[in-house]
Formats: sequence, C-alpha cells, structure tokens
Amino acid sequence: MSKVNFLKEDLKFKTNQMNYLALHLEYKEEILFGRYITLKHIEPLLLKYPVEVIGVSVLGKPIYKLQFGTGKIKILAWSQMHGNESTTTKALFDFIKFLHSNTKESKDILDNFTFCLLPMLNPDGAKLYTRENANGIDLNRDAQHLSQPESVLLRKTFDEFKPNYCYNLHDQRTIFGVGEVPKPATVSFLAPAFNENRDVNEVRIKAMNVIVAMNETLQLLIPNQVGRFDDSFNLNCVGDTFQYLNVPTILFEAGHFAEDYEREITRKYIFIALISGVLFLNENDIVLSEIDNYLKISQNKVIFYDYVYKNVNINYDSNKKIINFAAQFKEILDNNKVTFEAVIAQIDNLENYFGHVEIDAQGETYTDNKNNFPIIDQKATFYLGKNIIVNGKQSS
Ligand SMILES: [Zn+2]
Repeated sequence: MSKVNFLKEDLKFKTNQMNYLALHLEYKEEILFGRYITLKHIEPLLLKYPVEVIGVSVLGKPIYKLQFGTGKIKILAWSQMHGNESTTTKALFDFIKFLHSNTKESKDILDNFTFCLLPMLNPDGAKLYTRENANGIDLNRDAQHLSQPESVLLRKTFDEFKPNYCYNLHDQRTIFGVGEVPKPATVSFLAPAFNENRDVNEVRIKAMNVIVAMNETLQLLIPNQVGRFDDSFNLNCVGDTFQYLNVPTILFEAGHFAEDYEREITRKYIFIALISGVLFLNENDIVLSEIDNYLKISQNKVIFYDYVYKNVNINYDSNKKIINFAAQFKEILDNNKVTFEAVIAQIDNLENYFGHVEIDAQGETYTDNKNNFPIIDQKATFYLGKNIIVNGKQSS
C-alpha cells in the first residue's frame, strides 16, 4: 500500500478513539494480569518472537531483547528497570502482539520502524517485587557509574543499536495528580533535561513532540489525567544521560486510574500511547516545535492519598477533637501475589491533599478497640461510629 493511502487510513485510525479501545481488546495479552509480573510470566510469550538473551542479571537470570522491523526509525524501549513497575511491561507485550498481527497497519509500521525492546531489564527486582536490583541498587541512578550488570547491558544495547528514540518505561505511585480539580495522573510523560539549566535543544524538542502527540490522543480518552513529570536534571538517571547523548528520550509513567490497583486500565492507555506515538513519528518528517503544547500539559503534583477520612471525632484524654486523616496502600508480595495493605499515612495537615476515595464521618467517633485514635503506620481498620472500615475501605 502506498504511503499516502496509509496516511489517510491512519488519520481515520487516529481520530477514531473507539478504534484504539477495540485494538487493545483485540491484542491484549490476557495471560499477563495484575501487578506481579516476572520472567515466569513473560517467558511463554517471548517464545513467540525473535528473542535473544543479551546477558544476565545479578542473580544470573536472563535479560531478553526482542528486535524486529526493517524501517529506518529505530526505537529502543526498556521496561521494568524498576522491578515492581510492571504496567508498562504488560502494555509493551500488547503492543508487540499488535505489531505482529500482520494487518496492514502493523506491516506499515514494521516497514518504517525497527524496534529493540528489553521488556524486563531488572528480572531480579521483578521477582522480589522491589524497585532496586538484587544488589539494592536503583538502576535508574546508575547511568554514569554503570556499576550493575543490568545497567551495562542497557548501555551496551544503546551503543550498538544507535536508536533514534528511546522509551524509558515506568510506573508511578498513586500519590500523583494533575489539574486544579485534581484527577489521578493516569499517565505521565517527561522529556528529560540534558543539563542543569534544563535547556531545550533540537533533541529534547523531538521527544516533546512525540509526547504532545500521545497526550492529544490520551486527552480524548482520559481528559485531564495526563501529567508532565518534573524535569530536574540528574545525569545518573538513564533518560537524562541518553538525552545528553543526543537521542530523544521519553519517560513514560503508568499511574493510577480510579479503583484500578491492578493497573489493567492504565495498561490500556500506555498501549494507546505507544501506538499513537509511533503513528505520529510515521507521518511527521517536518521538524516543528511543539514546546508550547508540551508545557501546557499539567505538571504532576503529589496531592493524593488512597483514602481520606474527614470530620472524624476523636476522644482523647476526655477531650473531643474533630480531625481528618489519610491512609495509603502498601504493596506486599505474599505467596506470588501483590496484596494491598492500607495503613494510616497522615493525620491532619491535609489542606492540599485529596483522597482517591474520601469518606466523610460527619462527626462520628473513631474507635479501634486499642488506642481509639489513629497512629501512623497502623493498619487502617477501625470504626467510625457504627461504620466499619476494613483495610481502608468502608465495608457495607
Ligand atoms: Zn520507575
């Protein structure tokens, strides 16, 4: 099919948001689900594709690379460099499945792009459900020292593949929100700085342009739930280093969507972002600067707790006091599953904060058969008057 025809099709594809949602339904890798994604989960899928082991982790686990496509635009993407950040790994496999669908859209993309994907850079951290690798090192602070085998492998892949674009794929916590009437930051992006001054050069503009295109698509689907991440410069971060080495680099942060603690909804929006970014690159050779539109994307702010309880009466030393307090989930790996344990995270000082769920006690009294006042780090199971709150949530 000619390029022109594809672009017409593509435009239809792009403007039809239902198509994106249908596309995800069709290409979702159903065997990946929830937050605990390890080598054991992805290895059966990897067998379907041209895969290569490029080296091993601290604990000797394989680090896989998938390379495919014959096009001139080269994209290097890596996921789960933070072991407990698995949402983008799920989305990446959905994306890979779509790219191998033999449809005219996928074939056209593979004619124009070459992908080099490291879908689990930190398999030890994935297994342990930790951010860091097995040596307790944050790989995203190791871009200069290259002290860890995983960091060396990423850098080696970067040097050999010579990408035109890099995608640095992460998850962010539920604490981030965007906007004045705040909504969760379901997806956030950053075109990292390449110097202390946070200057904008041609390389960074290229990254910003792709972000603007992905943002435009996502805004149709999740208005005001896309954020722009803080761009303070740190050359120890991989994105900052690659941008500094003149390769446009984009940080993706998969965040919270209401009640979606398994991040299955967010996964869909990361998939859509990946596709819309590639479609944008496929049709835009013209260098224009979208810096203004990039800066219009609301900045991420730390403004959320998972639960906020308002107007709670506390009886303390025979004094009555009305307080607000908040609970936050801790993610705990238990028997090969991540469970969410709500603990008290803040008492009062909640002026600029919101809860993903807010419960107004309307002056009812807090009791917990122990101290009868909330204590930081204590489990969020208690009574508000006659209402029982179990693991943060009002139980009916
Ligand atoms: Zn991360």
